[in-house]
Amino acid sequence: MVVTGYCPCGECCSWRRTWYGRAVVAKGPNAGQPKAVGITASGQRAGRGTIAADITVLPMRTQLYVPGYGYGTVADTGGAIQGRRLDLFFSTHQLARQWGVKRLNVRVLKP
Ligand SMILES: [Zn+2]
Repeated sequence: MVVTGYCPCGECCSWRRTWYGRAVVAKGPNAGQPKAVGITASGQRAGRGTIAADITVLPMRTQLYVPGYGYGTVADTGGAIQGRRLDLFFSTHQLARQWGVKRLNVRVLKP
């Protein structure tokens, strides 16, 4: 699978701050709506081991082993995450950038 990294920042999660400091969705059908930064599509707080996937390929809560990252659970989605793609959560933008784009054999532990 093609595996990339992301962090909760506006660049990775397409949100921006209004002039009065509120986080809102930057683009798409929900643009301008309030954005819960750091909260995944499953409603849980994102942390290490949070993985975004195409949930038509890998359903929510699927447990995965990603070489070089470790164990994680599908708990998030993303507009660009379609098909055989994964996005791994990192706590900082620098770590996410360092991961880059990798093509890996990801092990599916439990659907
Ligand atoms: Zn980021």
